[in-house]
Amino acid sequence: MRNRITRREFLFASWFPFFFRRRRIRIAGIAFRAVRRGGDRRRFLWIHGNEETARAALAGHMNYAQGRAFFVESSERNVPLAGGRIDPNRMFSRVGAEKSLRTLNPSWTETQLREALAALDQDREKFLRAILPKDGGLIVALHNNGPGYAIQNEIPISDRVAMNNPSHPDEFMLCTSPADFALLSRSPFNVLLQEKAPPEDDGSLSRLAAARGVRYVNIEAALGNQVDQRWMLAWLETYLP
Ligand SMILES: [Zn+2]
Repeated sequence: MRNRITRREFLFASWFPFFFRRRRIRIAGIAFRAVRRGGDRRRFLWIHGNEETARAALAGHMNYAQGRAFFVESSERNVPLAGGRIDPNRMFSRVGAEKSLRTLNPSWTETQLREALAALDQDREKFLRAILPKDGGLIVALHNNGPGYAIQNEIPISDRVAMNNPSHPDEFMLCTSPADFALLSRSPFNVLLQEKAPPEDDGSLSRLAAARGVRYVNIEAALGNQVDQRWMLAWLETYLP
């Protein structure tokens, strides 16, 4: 019975109800499940495997929203690469990837490092073509924060700040487009604009989006606060073009 679903696939399908419309994309062996629903309206990304609330929020959203969503295939924040590990939200530039690889793999030789960076370089543009939106479209990334990170960390490097919900510093949206900021700042949520790429290249998707003029929104919520993360996502879905 070649077509029988294995137990593992079944468990995955219960996580991802749109199981049968999935495919997989990769960068240097780091795999993401790609989910399509309806037209190619928006792009969504869940990139840190330990941020379970963000995964659940995005999976729920994809039950009704249109677009393409990408889910990292990992249950941990840092993912395997070339026998070591990397923070996947540091792989969007060579400079950022090198910093992450040096920190996480202190025993690596320079050759190991060069080979891992070369593998990322080889796949990066193809991967970006797969995940980035076309023609002024929007990509939405979802993250969860724990103690030690909140909106205050981002305010000093932001171009504009709408502190609409000061009692919830863990819940905020960070965008790269002034037009999106103008709309999002009318929401009940905290919003930041970071239009220019920060001088320090950390290899994050937000920096790449700012550098390339891609409309990007990061929806941040405390780990466990799925209600507010879903609410921000639904608000954005309704009011952003
Ligand atoms: Zn994250």
